[in-house]
Amino acid sequence: MSAPSEAHEATPHRVLILGAGYAGMAAAIQLAGRVKRRGDAQVTLINAQDRFTERLRLHMTATGQRVAELSIPELLDGTGTRFVRGWVTAVNADARTVRVDDDRVLHYDTLIYGLGSVADTETVPGVEDYAYSLNSFQDAELLAGRLARLGSGTVVVGGSGLTGIESAAEIAEQYPKLNVVLLGRHEPGATMTSKAGAYLRSALERLGVQVRSGVEVTKVLPDAVELVGGETIATEVVLWTSGTRVSPLAAAAGLTVDERGRIVTDTGLRSVSHPQVYAVGDAAAIAQGYRVMHGTCQGGMPTGVHAAVSIVRALRGRQPKPFRFGYYHTPVSLGRHDGVVQFTHPDDSPRRLHLTGRIAVRYKETVTASPWPTFGRMKKMPASGAFWPRGGRFTRIRASR
Ligand SMILES: Cc1cc2nc3c(=O)[nH]c(=O)nc-3n(C[C@H](O)[C@H](O)[C@H](O)COP(=O)(O)OP(=O)(O)OC[C@H]3O[C@@H](n4cnc5c(N)ncnc54)[C@H](O)[C@@H]3O)c2cc1C
Repeated sequence: MSAPSEAHEATPHRVLILGAGYAGMAAAIQLAGRVKRRGDAQVTLINAQDRFTERLRLHMTATGQRVAELSIPELLDGTGTRFVRGWVTAVNADARTVRVDDDRVLHYDTLIYGLGSVADTETVPGVEDYAYSLNSFQDAELLAGRLARLGSGTVVVGGSGLTGIESAAEIAEQYPKLNVVLLGRHEPGATMTSKAGAYLRSALERLGVQVRSGVEVTKVLPDAVELVGGETIATEVVLWTSGTRVSPLAAAAGLTVDERGRIVTDTGLRSVSHPQVYAVGDAAAIAQGYRVMHGTCQGGMPTGVHAAVSIVRALRGRQPKPFRFGYYHTPVSLGRHDGVVQFTHPDDSPRRLHLTGRIAVRYKETVTASPWPTFGRMKKMPASGAFWPRGGRFTRIRASR
């Protein structure tokens, strides 16, 4: 980052934040709170919609359940942050500009890139044409409409990761007449302890979800899915949750990205090729002592806060501190009345402790509901956003480099 403290005494330092998801919102609120009084930075947040997408509830939206309408401009009111609703179509990392909806160009001194990730609907043929996804609120609503009209038949959920599990359970519970089939390479709950995983699978069975593990979908057809080996499963609806894909904008801008297209960061969350760009949330490849972080809300929000704090440090002529994060839980809903919470070591490996049943339901709901009030608290008290597990010895290796 160019020395902002000397260069912009009269002109405020322009910070553009791309994406108002969990990470981008955390960055915007945190940064606005910290620079508001001094007025040495102008913060602009760009997002595709005014409404905050609670991705953690998209499986609920997809099954016709109403979720709160959370307005980003309303939350930003009084913070001094400018909100731009639009679709980012290009980043020019050399000219330090961002193109919005093809016809507007915004300039920045520092960029925070938080465009998130979506399920990979491009790799397996037919997914893009025939499968539903939970890639946006609109996608979830489309599926909700289809399920409501369906009455009976089969719904195949492709992908036995957490989104696939939660979606299959939710569909089976809300539509008991439907035949729900969960397909995946791995057994659902494979990353949990054997006890927690067994509980999860028995809950899926109780809900009537048919689990097929160790299978790979090769093609999605208008009325079936085809598996390796040629077997087909006839289905009315396919929901695709497998794999992750990020926006191609970072790679197209010439930023150094990993094999999945995520921006590779230094210890301070700055792009290794363009240090005036910070990358946060699912769109960033952030190495920790244990490995590169995988996308979660629990890790995404701290990255946003850390990027904001680092920018403020740079504005005051100080170096960013290394980012450290350790996982602490994997909460999984199994419909509205059951769940499993697997507590984890900082590297995301399972601890012995887990919760199930009603207490897990309450825990999961508390976690899911917490980001929005957290943003509200940060608006009044930025320092309240700075608490998260740093990972202890699991992340110390990198911090001491
Ligand atoms: C059903 C489901 C359940 C989940 N449950 C959990 C859970 O229990 N715990 C957990 O930790 N994680 C969970 N996750 C994962 C979690 O939602 C993500 O890790 C998290 O949303 C990442 O935050 P982010 O800010 O990086 O991206 P996002 O929250 O996806 O935000 C990105 C934002 O950028 C916007 N955007 C993207 N491209 C553009 C563009 N070109 N122009 C303008 N705007 C754009 C998007 O509209 C969005 O608002 C779940 C995900 C799903 C789908």
